[in-house]
Amino acid sequence: MTAVRLDGAAIARELRTGFASRVERLAAAGIRPGLSVVLVGDDAASRVYVRNKAQACESIGMRSDVHVLGADATEAQVLARIAALNGDAEIDGILVQLPLPAHIDEHAVVEAIAAGKDVDGFRRENVGALSQGRPGFVPCTPRGVVAMLDHAGVELRGLHAVVVGRSNIVGKPMAQLLTARDATVTLCHSRTVDLAAHTRRADVLVVAAGGPKMIGADMVKPGAVVIDVGIHRQADGTLCGDADYDACREVASLISPVPGGVGPMTIAMLLANTLDAAERRAVRT
Ligand code: NAP
Repeated sequence: MTAVRLDGAAIARELRTGFASRVERLAAAGIRPGLSVVLVGDDAASRVYVRNKAQACESIGMRSDVHVLGADATEAQVLARIAALNGDAEIDGILVQLPLPAHIDEHAVVEAIAAGKDVDGFRRENVGALSQGRPGFVPCTPRGVVAMLDHAGVELRGLHAVVVGRSNIVGKPMAQLLTARDATVTLCHSRTVDLAAHTRRADVLVVAAGGPKMIGADMVKPGAVVIDVGIHRQADGTLCGDADYDACREVASLISPVPGGVGPMTIAMLLANTLDAAERRAVRT
């Protein structure tokens, strides 16, 4: 069997067309959705991510501001910038690009973002809302994975989903979203004994562990859906994921590539979260 490629870039493009219509409807009501991205320091990869996010906003007519603070900015300066953005009625979403320099308390900064503008969904209120199944912002990457599965028509109810990785931003919210969709979920991590025994039982395997090509074909159940969240730069400059794509696609039924899989879906869901916030503003005003 050769798997069908889950083309996240194409799905994201399709979603953006719908988002552009939502932006136009908001414009008719006098509202331009706005996202502010705060970048502290000069990490090259972070700059690329921030630029991509800003371009994605602008491509559908949303406003996007990037606030760059020097690597030596104090925590108080970062918090002051967030306070100003919290108070700006024209800004619907605030995102702080992580990681922050070591001298800044990441947790304190994330918690300073107004809950209604926390489009990354990392604040306690939003984490709690997801775990209780109440409305709130869902982190963009797991939301993007579910959107991708929905687009492919994967009916999650009753399937066994295995998530590899338990980070706060991907693995844990991923497991919660899949549970909310009635999948039976196994959450694996670095202390899991015999990882392959778990992954081989997965109808849906979501890998977010950060190990280049660590999932081989022998770890995939024939016919499974494989979603690869990992992203790594290889020695030859090309990108790869946590799954060995060429090997796994001979066993899986559907598989997301890297690049062009989960990455574009993550950015699309950032737009979706910001639009959701802007539409709530439209109802309030
Ligand atoms: P993270 O915070 O480093 O967490 C990695 C998780 O994987 C941890 O829970 C760790 O277990 C687990 N793990 C590590 N090695 C393992 C192994 N050999 N077997 C089983 N579990 C293992 O990473 P993250 O932020 O979740 O990101 C994961 C990957 O996704 C990275 O490659 C990252 O670049 C990528 N990513 C991509 C996107 C996107 O939009 N495409 C977004 C976010 C992240 P412990 O908890 O026991 O340490």
